[in-house]
Amino acid sequence: MLNDFDRYPLTFGPTPIEKLGNLSAHLGNKVNIFAKREDCNSGLACGGNKIRKLEYIIPDAIASGADTLVSIGGVQSNHTRQVAAVAAKIGMKCHLVQESWVPFEDPVYDKVGNILMSRLMGAKTELVDEGFDIGIRESWKRAIDRVKKNGGKPYPIPAGASEHKYGGLGYVGFAEEVRMQENKMGITFDYIIVCTVTGSTHAGMAVGFSIDDRQQKVIGIDASCTPKQTRAQVLKITQNTAEIIKLNKQLTNDDIVLIEDYAYPEYGVPSNETNDAISLCAKLEGMITDPVYEGKSMQGLIDLVRKGFFPEGSNILYAHLGGVPAINGYHKIYS
Ligand SMILES: *Cc1c(COP(=O)(O)O)cnc(C)c1O
Repeated sequence: MLNDFDRYPLTFGPTPIEKLGNLSAHLGNKVNIFAKREDCNSGLACGGNKIRKLEYIIPDAIASGADTLVSIGGVQSNHTRQVAAVAAKIGMKCHLVQESWVPFEDPVYDKVGNILMSRLMGAKTELVDEGFDIGIRESWKRAIDRVKKNGGKPYPIPAGASEHKYGGLGYVGFAEEVRMQENKMGITFDYIIVCTVTGSTHAGMAVGFSIDDRQQKVIGIDASCTPKQTRAQVLKITQNTAEIIKLNKQLTNDDIVLIEDYAYPEYGVPSNETNDAISLCAKLEGMITDPVYEGKSMQGLIDLVRKGFFPEGSNILYAHLGGVPAINGYHKIYS
């Protein structure tokens, strides 16, 4: 499906799938839980899902003759950290707009974790006092203009590398990879759990898994707490991605499954239940999930298993999309 598109290799290759046997047992062995470790996909600054997306965006950036990647996210954005790493690797400059998306007060929040790593890799981190929004932002446009005014050639990458014409391709590739791994392992995954915010991870999966009619088995767990906007963006990216890969199928709103129950109290702020899930998973599996994204999808997974959402015997694939560096900004909760 992706043969028509250039890919700039930034990952180690197919990511491992491992059984979470202790977690499955803890939940009564009614279902078999596996994790696909996108958090271990690259040597670029701890990796994560944005690196997989960027593999299909970077060829366009290089072709454009740009010398500076310009992107945007929250202060503890994993995405901007991954853009900074890629910029370093390919020898470009990097300008990052870091907005105040998360009302979480801590004196080291803008000093540790992701933003620390971005600074180490030479990115310019511009702190902007604007609230959470997954859409196209004025601050980002201003940053792009500023790079131009200073004689640079910017290449804009939107929040989460999502609202980019090629943003959905990486996770179409994820679905192809899972099918290959299923053949090798001799099993089929009945459900795929994914944390959804800016939407192209979920959208790419919806397109990729539609090949064997599994798009409605991709269960998005909203972590944006603005689910209407997130759902609309997932659908838009799904349809755009389906079009550019010439999928001969119409995907509609019914093909996007987004569960809204776990994003509370708001984006970037974990609930007690999210923290319980993070702690349970860490203690049982030695697998760290973060309070912004993966902890919420882990909470959703655990709660849905307990509620009997999945038929007994189901094989469930939890996509671990990364995000661990952000935990440093939340040290207070866990100390
Ligand atoms: C960006 C991110 C997500 C959400 O992916 P989207 O494609 O933005 O929906 C989930 N988990 C982690 C760790 C992320 O960095």
